[in-house]
Amino acid sequence: MTEKFICPYCERLLTEKHYCVSCKKDFSIEAAHTNEGTLPDYQIAQQDYIDNVCFHLLKEFIPTSNWDIRQIGTIRDALINVLIKFHGKKEYDLYPWLLEPEDTISM
Ligand SMILES: [Zn+2]
Repeated sequence: MTEKFICPYCERLLTEKHYCVSCKKDFSIEAAHTNEGTLPDYQIAQQDYIDNVCFHLLKEFIPTSNWDIRQIGTIRDALINVLIKFHGKKEYDLYPWLLEPEDTISM
């Protein structure tokens, strides 16, 4: 059986071939990885990129600081908020997540 997913940009239902009609974007690679519970390499690299930027920012102020995902996550949330709110960036492009199945749509 083919699971149907929600578009991470517009939250509309993707087609059975994992295509978003309104965004005109194909999510078949992302859907195949979601079925295996993982992100594609390019999205893992994007997450690492953001986390590394946040870690380096922290190190600007606290050079001795260690990798701590709570601190990095706090900086990341603030950074992503600014990029979305003031620069029109998309959260999914900045810090992608697994596709959400159809049944998580709230009625
Ligand atoms: Zn869409």
